[in-house]
Amino acid sequence: EERIISSEYMNEDQNQETLRPRFLHEMIGQRKVRDNMKVYIEAAKMRREALDHVLLYGPPGLGKTTLSNVIANELGVNIRTTSGPAIERPGDLAALLTNLQEGDVLFIDEIHRINKSVEEVLYPAMEDYALDIIIGKGPSARSVRLDLPPFTLIGATTRAGMLSLPLRDRFGVVSHLEYYDTDDLQKIIVRTAEIFGVPIVPAGAMELATRSRGTPRIANRLLKRVRDFAMVQGDGVITKELADHALRLIQVDALGLDEVDHKLLLTIIEKFGGGPVGLDTISATIGEEPDTIEDVYEPYLMQIGFLQRTPRGRVVTPHGYRHFGLETDRRDV
Ligand code: ADP
Repeated sequence: EERIISSEYMNEDQNQETLRPRFLHEMIGQRKVRDNMKVYIEAAKMRREALDHVLLYGPPGLGKTTLSNVIANELGVNIRTTSGPAIERPGDLAALLTNLQEGDVLFIDEIHRINKSVEEVLYPAMEDYALDIIIGKGPSARSVRLDLPPFTLIGATTRAGMLSLPLRDRFGVVSHLEYYDTDDLQKIIVRTAEIFGVPIVPAGAMELATRSRGTPRIANRLLKRVRDFAMVQGDGVITKELADHALRLIQVDALGLDEVDHKLLLTIIEKFGGGPVGLDTISATIGEEPDTIEDVYEPYLMQIGFLQRTPRGRVVTPHGYRHFGLETDRRDV
């Protein structure tokens, strides 16, 4: 089952390679991160050294993969892409590392899901550009150190807190990607529409922007769906009215919330008196994975002030109640 809102990768995102900005100046938003990165990249180039290891964290769909590719392009080096769960054994990582050329970028998505034995290979690789290999078994086993070319590890994760401390400490640059504001999302939508050759008026792009949950991937996805409605039920042009009509039909509300958000909030309100209620209880009640709730749904609901995480569980705020035309007299949130 595919959802529009899910900021996870979906099949229809295939042509996202054509959508990805290639250089820093082509990227929209994330000003602070981009400005800093520009300095680090230039300094590394001046010193003719590999860029320091970079950790990018933030909700899915905000541009972590895009930025990693941009960094490699700006450095003029190759990028190898893998993910935490894809590296099963230490040997898999050793193979990746020994294939790097000087200055290359190794991008590890979902780096928090890397297993412990693989993580231990990363430490000397990051710190000393070295690979410690164990040869032999039992009492005659010995360790041999292999030099690696200087390289840059870029790790991406949805939450920096999920990384072990020793791993986190080995990143020289730690950058947090934030939700985009509607002006930036509008620009991203106009840019994507241009690439796709879809006619869109500024107010139409703004309507999509306000309903994209601060997330470029969702913005691009909504644009594609709304384009279908514009072609079949309209004259091909995405206007504000057309966008509103189409988003209503695909059940994306005025703030970009979908059925799952509604179910999550209404469950807490109706079944648990507004909370606090634990993540696992919510998960079991609405039938969504705890990880998905925590990484995809909750961050945005917290960002817009509808939900709070407290030590005793999740609580819906009065603001969240009002979205459904409901009132609460609790004053503790
Ligand atoms: P993440 O790795 O954080 O999940 P991605 O890098 O895959 O996110 O970005 C998702 C999509 O959003 C990409 O296809 C890209 O086209 C678009 N995108 C992300 N950031 C930007 C940006 N700053 N400007 C324009 N498009 C962007």
